[in-house]
Amino acid sequence: MSIPGEMHAMVLEKVRASLVDCTMRVPRPAMEQVLVRITACGICRTDLHVVDGELPNPKLPLVPGHEIIGVVAAVGPNVTTLREGQLVGVPWLGYTCGKCRYCLRGNENLCENARFTGYTIDGGFAEYTVANEKYCFPLNAKFSEPGSAPLMCAGLIGYRSYSMIDKGAVNLGFYGFGAAAHILIQLAVAHGKHVFAFTREGDRAAQEFAIKLGSVWAGDSNTSPPEKLDAAIIFAPVGALVPKALRDLDKGGIVVCGGIHMSDIPSFPYDILWGERVVRSVANLTRKDGDEFLKIAAELGIKTETRLFPLREANEAIGLLKKGSIQGAAVLIP
Ligand SMILES: [Zn+2]
Ligand SMILES: [Zn+2]
Repeated sequence: MSIPGEMHAMVLEKVRASLVDCTMRVPRPAMEQVLVRITACGICRTDLHVVDGELPNPKLPLVPGHEIIGVVAAVGPNVTTLREGQLVGVPWLGYTCGKCRYCLRGNENLCENARFTGYTIDGGFAEYTVANEKYCFPLNAKFSEPGSAPLMCAGLIGYRSYSMIDKGAVNLGFYGFGAAAHILIQLAVAHGKHVFAFTREGDRAAQEFAIKLGSVWAGDSNTSPPEKLDAAIIFAPVGALVPKALRDLDKGGIVVCGGIHMSDIPSFPYDILWGERVVRSVANLTRKDGDEFLKIAAELGIKTETRLFPLREANEAIGLLKKGSIQGAAVLIP
């Protein structure tokens, strides 16, 4: 595979500013890295938080993007499991140390020395990227479409959030019906769950979209569902949804906060937590989550609804995502 010397990338030079269309040197893979020719990169809510300076200490300048699908174009000298021409996915988790107390107890998602694609290492809003082979997911040909890109984070984090819920839970509330929820609902419906979808007030299009995908009910986030929920997953970065979801929850239920950033949670009376209700967050992912989820996604034939944008239109795509005017997920095509 011939590799050009230079590539286009959309670069964050400083936070709270537009991405800049740059020409950069194509990176060369280090010892354990592969060079990936990117075919698609989804835009995740987390990218918006990085661009807006809501997450501390991003690498700058930075190539954002961590929902990468691409083909291995070159391999570093110590690469053993991947080969040139192979289809891979590159997720948010880019490196863990394997030695800290979190890694040693199987919580690599909490690693003290972790590095994250499109945040502390360069990511996928570019024509090429390098990635450590151990953190890439080898993909079968089913995942070659650009629509697979959002599975790499929206799907994975949705799956990790879902896996925190008791297996016996039936009524699930999804708060915020964007990229992650529209993937996860397919899994939940296949498992016989009843999904109650909460959207921004008056967002009829998102509510119809949720019903089309199998929600038993869809409504504004400030309205009460017709039945008590066994579990709630909050995808929207809105802290006020935590007490709201607690009020919608049955005794013994759980509220899972799926995002990396959320506005402050307002104080609430203890009685809405009483009854052994639980509030918890989900942080990052483990490679095991990825392996499990991608197997299930292939078995169930999970589909995504995506709007494709040329790479150079990343700023426009981010603007539309912020306004909530994209159904499903936005994906950049180099
Ligand atoms: Zn570690
Ligand atoms: Zn993400």
